[in-house]
Amino acid sequence: MKRALNFNPGPAVLPLEVLKEAQAELLDFAGTGMSILEVSHRSADYEKMHNETQALLRELLGLGDNYKVMFLGGGASTQFLMVPMNYLAEGKVADYILTGDWSRKAHKEAKGVGQTNVAATTEVDGRFARIPRQDELKLTDGAAYVHLTSNNTIFGTQWQTFPDVKAPLIADMSSDFCWRPFDAKKFSLIYAGAQKNMGPAGVTVIVVRDDLLATAKAGLPTMMSHKVHAENNSLFNTPPCFAIYLVGKVLKWIKGKGGLVAIEKANRAKGDLLYGTIDKHAGFYKAPVEKGSRSYMNVVFRLPTEELEKKFLDEAKKQSMIGLKGHRSVGGIRVSIYNAALLEWVQSVTQFMEDFVKKNG
Ligand SMILES: *Cc1c(COP(=O)(O)O)cnc(C)c1O
Repeated sequence: MKRALNFNPGPAVLPLEVLKEAQAELLDFAGTGMSILEVSHRSADYEKMHNETQALLRELLGLGDNYKVMFLGGGASTQFLMVPMNYLAEGKVADYILTGDWSRKAHKEAKGVGQTNVAATTEVDGRFARIPRQDELKLTDGAAYVHLTSNNTIFGTQWQTFPDVKAPLIADMSSDFCWRPFDAKKFSLIYAGAQKNMGPAGVTVIVVRDDLLATAKAGLPTMMSHKVHAENNSLFNTPPCFAIYLVGKVLKWIKGKGGLVAIEKANRAKGDLLYGTIDKHAGFYKAPVEKGSRSYMNVVFRLPTEELEKKFLDEAKKQSMIGLKGHRSVGGIRVSIYNAALLEWVQSVTQFMEDFVKKNG
């Protein structure tokens, strides 16, 4: 079997070590004689894994137990709605910073729940090429919260330093959670669909601080209530057990690599290599993103014509480089290089880019 050079934007590559471990344990989870797919979520063995995964995430992020870790279904898209349902109180305003499609979608859901303010948008003709500066933010005094998207999976931009705000800061980190060390204490709530940088599809990881959680609205439909899920340790109903188990394995893999510091170093090397190649051939490869806003998870660029882009993708595919097509809404090329993507793969891509310029430039 030959593993592909997997640059899929999501669901995306998982560490080979994690897959092999899961494979080896599949028929017998923790000596139960059953697979993790077959055991009760109320069993002690399951709960141990569940709780260890929460503890490990807190450890990697440097958070105390005043933060609750939750594992919910429904994807990050369900949190677009649950966040305002729980935390956008009557008479309050939620500030949204718009930096791409995902933040626009989050904002749309909030508008259906209550009052919102667009604190900043960097949209120009339907596209987003940068992250706003702190001095561009028009924040509401006494806002319920400020919402941002840390990495813009489609447009290839990423917050380099997070803004200072007075209201509780909430982030959708679906496509770059745990890509580097950061000051997690700055956030009152973080949510991330696991299928990009943390694990498989099926689970959304949520980290929420007690003081925000305490303000969550009461009387919501049960399954929409963060309080219900937190009070029941994400075991109110059957959680996505297998996905949580894999997230746990990915977190252990990160820790084994040397934690977030080591992971960042590896991610920087991959991103720098790609951006270096783009810049070296700036007459051929065009980066639509401003330099100070470049993503280290999703590297996007254009070629001189759409015909050349198609040729690039076809030839890359023949060399087992998969998932390089830009999102259908923006076109071009997108190289998604999440934590589990290997430096060697990126070296193959940049070598291919060099060869392609020589032949077609
Ligand atoms: C993919 C993505 C989402 C959507 O996640 P689902 O789990 O499919 O709902 C939301 N936000 C960001 C930043 C994403 O990249």
